Amino acid sequence: TTVTKESNVDVLIVGAGPAGYMAATWLARFPGLKVRFIEKRDGKIFAGQADGIQCRTLEVFQSFGFADRVWKDANHMLEISFWNPDESGKNVVRTGRIPDMQKGLSRYHQVVLHQGWIEGYFRDNLKKYNGATVEHSTMPQEMVIDESKVNDLEAYPIKVTLRHLNEEGSHAEQFGHKVANGLFRSANLVNAKEEDNGLAGEDKAEELEVINAKYVLGCDGAHSWVRRQLGFQMVGEQTDYVWGVLDIVPITNFPDIRNRCAIHSAEDGSVMVIPRENALVRFYIQMKEIDRQADGRVDRAKITPEKILAQAQKIMHPYTLSYEEIQWFTAYQIGQRVVDNFQAHDRVFILGDAAHTHSPKAGQGMNVSMMDSYNLGWKIGGVLNGTLNPKVLSTYELERSQVAHDLINFDQKFAKLFSGRPAKSAADEAGISLEEFHRVFELSHKFASGVDVEYVPSPIVAPAAETTQSLATNIPVGKRFNSFKVLNQSDARPWEFQELMKSDGRWRIVVFAGDMLDKDQKARVEKLAEHLDKEDSFMKKYTPADKPRTGLFHILTCHSSPRIEVELHDFPKALRPDHDYWSVYVDDESHHEGHGQAYKNYGVDPKRGCLVVVRPDQYVSMVVELEEVEKVEKFFAGCLVPRK
Ligand code: FAD
Repeated sequence: TTVTKESNVDVLIVGAGPAGYMAATWLARFPGLKVRFIEKRDGKIFAGQADGIQCRTLEVFQSFGFADRVWKDANHMLEISFWNPDESGKNVVRTGRIPDMQKGLSRYHQVVLHQGWIEGYFRDNLKKYNGATVEHSTMPQEMVIDESKVNDLEAYPIKVTLRHLNEEGSHAEQFGHKVANGLFRSANLVNAKEEDNGLAGEDKAEELEVINAKYVLGCDGAHSWVRRQLGFQMVGEQTDYVWGVLDIVPITNFPDIRNRCAIHSAEDGSVMVIPRENALVRFYIQMKEIDRQADGRVDRAKITPEKILAQAQKIMHPYTLSYEEIQWFTAYQIGQRVVDNFQAHDRVFILGDAAHTHSPKAGQGMNVSMMDSYNLGWKIGGVLNGTLNPKVLSTYELERSQVAHDLINFDQKFAKLFSGRPAKSAADEAGISLEEFHRVFELSHKFASGVDVEYVPSPIVAPAAETTQSLATNIPVGKRFNSFKVLNQSDARPWEFQELMKSDGRWRIVVFAGDMLDKDQKARVEKLAEHLDKEDSFMKKYTPADKPRTGLFHILTCHSSPRIEVELHDFPKALRPDHDYWSVYVDDESHHEGHGQAYKNYGVDPKRGCLVVVRPDQYVSMVVELEEVEKVEKFFAGCLVPRK
């Protein structure tokens, strides 16, 4: 084979799973970038895999414009039921019910929808925004980094040679069963070589291609080729627990089949029930008897849906369980690992399952994977369009390795509780106490929802000395900007405040203007506006010359006076630079949807207000007084590049 093509690209994304799609979607919001997006599979089979969509993920989908589709198509998870052995130890009985999510964490709650659908929404969105199209049946063969060029922003230091596979070559083998299943790539049951061999097809003749890239994103899953090329290691542990997964339309007399359930039997293991879209239900079933190969590894050829079902029937006794239709099954062995490096030279990045693997039951993998690329996408986009200082790229590892480690710690606790057997009495220390299980489950909501992630100080999160948290006690610096309802000053329409912060690559300058009927306060707001209008203010200094005034900074104002006593034109023009009618909001009673109490909920003084800087990914960078624009100037000087 010879090289037939060679080209330069800004970004090469390897792997079209959730992490890859999110990266491509973000980059599509930075017009003019050249992005290639490759996937070794032919894209034909798709069932099973991830399904839980957490609150934070829905917020992000909303910011890209497709949360409504997910919300409509998904199954909504509102309640968890706990089932445990009765006194005889022979039957399971319901021992409790709790809401699936703690109140007030987000305007969304967890929903469940198949990963394939989610990827479909991404594809539609990419089309709408002229984003990269997935090039199927394409995989990298070699990657060489020219270290002498990694500090040159104009250079393309990463040379990647691509193979284009023929159709058979890229169609993942169904592993020895007629039913669609995930055994061909199952976590910890398959090693990287076996997964590679599953696709050892013929290359299309003469079709090697060379790509010279500025950035490469390794979104290629648990056996990441990109990660292996860099010589990075996954660090962590593997347990002996093996779980089976069935996606079925069940026939059962179990009363809570449309609830999320945690069912612990006395001796036969546990089942987790996840009701899905349409009439589907997913079962996670702890397998007790597993056939092993001579080397001790699980023999995946011997795992069948019948065996997994039989185990579920035992655990759920006295209830009956069979199925009308089976859509997918798999098995996996729990292991918790994190990669030892998330990037090389801030040019090649490792994201998603390529960087962290754990058990799927807490519904985290797909969500955390997408959030990795949500964290990185705007940073690469900003560096490439010349607005963001490249040193910001190192915050990817800083921010996401912390999340990955937190996830592993969380999963270790969660998986252990799930895989353990219930305590027979208070003295039974080897068993899991019911109270402990309920407690951890409840505590887990906050973590699992994704809204609690907190990024540490860096060039894009101001250190404590530069920010005054007490001005907005419930807008924590380093966390995502939470949402409460505010009304549009012009037309009285209620909006979730966060909804106004689209993922379009812009920073938000949120002006809590306070009481505009108070003369002194109004003067403070006017003074701030005067600064924003100056030739040397950050608004002008960093916004590229070919962009409108609001091309890099989106100003959103929210005041606290009664809406009808204030006019839109009372606000200085600098606070409504081009979209007059969609710039100014108020914390007031709506005609039909109640009062959002935004000032109270955000912990902001309704008289004096404050100024909040929010990153393009909705994380809060700093909170300051309206007068403290110098601090804002200093902050942006540390992370943005002045326009040429
Ligand atoms: P992947 O989805 O693995 O995507 C990687 C892509 O890269 C694949 O398409 C692969 O074909 C491609 N690829 C690999 N190597 C190459 C190469 N060399 N060249 C080109 N392409 C390549 N997560 C949740 O959030 N919620 C859940 O409820 C949930 N449930 C799960 C249930 C099960 C049974 C399983 C197995 C997983 C579950 N997960 C869940 C986890 C979730 O599926 C993964 O965490 C998620 O898919 C990771 O996304 P990713 O994009 O990082 O990797």
